[in-house]
Amino acid sequence: MPEVKIKKILVANRGEIAIRVMRTAREMGIKTVAIYSDADVASPHVKYADEAVNVGPAPSNKSYLNMDKIIEVCLELNVDAIHPGYGFLSENATFAKKVAEKGIIFIGPSPEAIEVMGDKLAAKNAVSKYNVPMVPGVNHAVSDLKEAKEIADEIGYPVLIKASAGGGGKGMRVVEKAEEIEEQMQRAMSEAESAFSDKSVFIEKFIGSPRHIEIQILGDQHGNLVYLFERECSIQRRHQKVIEEAPSAILTPEKRKAMGEAAIGVAKACNYYGAGTVEFIVDENIDFFFLEMNTRLQVEHPVTEEITGKDLVKEQIYVAEGKPLSFTQDDLTINGHAIEIRVYAENPKENFLPETGNLKTYKLPQGPGVRVDDGFEEGMDIPIYYDPMISKLITYGANREQARMRMLRAIDEYEISGLSTTLDFCSFALKHEAFISGHFDTKFVQTHFKPEMLDNHSEEEEQIAIALAAFLLEEQKKASNAVGEGSLSKWKLRA
Ligand code: ADP
Ligand code: ADP
Ligand code: MG
Repeated sequence: MPEVKIKKILVANRGEIAIRVMRTAREMGIKTVAIYSDADVASPHVKYADEAVNVGPAPSNKSYLNMDKIIEVCLELNVDAIHPGYGFLSENATFAKKVAEKGIIFIGPSPEAIEVMGDKLAAKNAVSKYNVPMVPGVNHAVSDLKEAKEIADEIGYPVLIKASAGGGGKGMRVVEKAEEIEEQMQRAMSEAESAFSDKSVFIEKFIGSPRHIEIQILGDQHGNLVYLFERECSIQRRHQKVIEEAPSAILTPEKRKAMGEAAIGVAKACNYYGAGTVEFIVDENIDFFFLEMNTRLQVEHPVTEEITGKDLVKEQIYVAEGKPLSFTQDDLTINGHAIEIRVYAENPKENFLPETGNLKTYKLPQGPGVRVDDGFEEGMDIPIYYDPMISKLITYGANREQARMRMLRAIDEYEISGLSTTLDFCSFALKHEAFISGHFDTKFVQTHFKPEMLDNHSEEEEQIAIALAAFLLEEQKKASNAVGEGSLSKWKLRA
């Protein structure tokens, strides 16, 4: 295919990822168009873009998911290419097709690849010829309750019922014993029907203490494919990631290579091009199994950028222009270590319940090795209509410990008031022995975290503050200057 030059990109997304994409576009001399809903009139992504168009009311299905409107904007403003970000229309094959039909470039893989990988069952089937290890289970939709029982008996409990069309951590049910399978199957199917308009579910072995480790891949339209190593994403709540890091603390170079090559196999199974992620679940023996492929830029892509020195958005744009990859597998190496935490507006003490509210105070951490990808400013409301993620805080270090200590320092510097966030929880997790040693799995929250732990922490601090206050009073009475400035200001902050 002939190479083209993209001159103007519309970003069909909002918040941090819209700005993330526009930043690279600007660095490449490409003009940007933002779209926004009524709820996002004052959002930074709107101000950042060269042009911005209101595409409708706040609910996503009336704005950010309005395919025809978005395409209409592209045609009016002479847009060459659409970047879909993640979520919204990023994994919508119909959209990718419609865009191409209008002669606009979709910055992502082919509609066929999106379609195959968007359906977990179709994906398993496509991949089965490529020697990729899979979680024990079935590769077809199950709706008959008797059959479900037989399958589960054969796999052995506990099993996991999964919606074929599931995503975002939704559409999964663990079944512990045979007596529960029928009821759970019925529930899973009706949930899948209402959430994804597709009641296909399948059954696989539930891995007890798994880690979630994924491989970033990148392919061009000439058949070249490389992997940009792994991201460890095991610290999750509600089957959704909160802390990610690269590289993983537990992979040997041999295992990394095996997983990388398996990921390339998955990509080959759908003639993949663009940036994509192959997710694996890893058991206690560090055996890995294919979970799914996400055919888009991933939320946690920055940790890969930090350790490889590659700008993944830039690579996506080059691939979309038809350029061959400018590097090979042998050119890629891991440098240092990066950690990302997702700062969500949610309350870790209330089972991570999402919160809405106003960012009364919002002051960013800075300094060496700190990157913040965000889409909000002080004084803004977090709207109820969309994902409650406020920002992603990423730290980079020469090694894991430096990245970890930097993250703790950056969390300390990050000032947010007006609503609860996952910052405290992340600080707790990063200080936990399980995280420090690298011995953790996707059950970290269940195993190690209780809401009181955040309370205890602050109670303890309050006790110290109270004791300090008493001491200060005493000292003041004596009119001495024996108190350190640091502890005084800390106490003032708390009061
Ligand atoms: P990542 O693997 O990049 O971390 P997530 O699973 O956290 O991706 O999803 C990224 C974003 O996309 C989130 O906003 C999530 O809610 C949304 N998302 C992903 N899949 C779906 C889906 N099938 N339906 C609705 N939203 C989804
Ligand atoms: P989604 O499309 O919602 O991201 P995934 O298949 O990627 O669905 O699974 C999301 C998370 O659910 C994984 O990161 C993992 O924590 C958990 N999970 C998925 N499959 C299994 C399994 N077979 N056993 C145990 N946990 C699983
Ligand atoms: Mg997933």
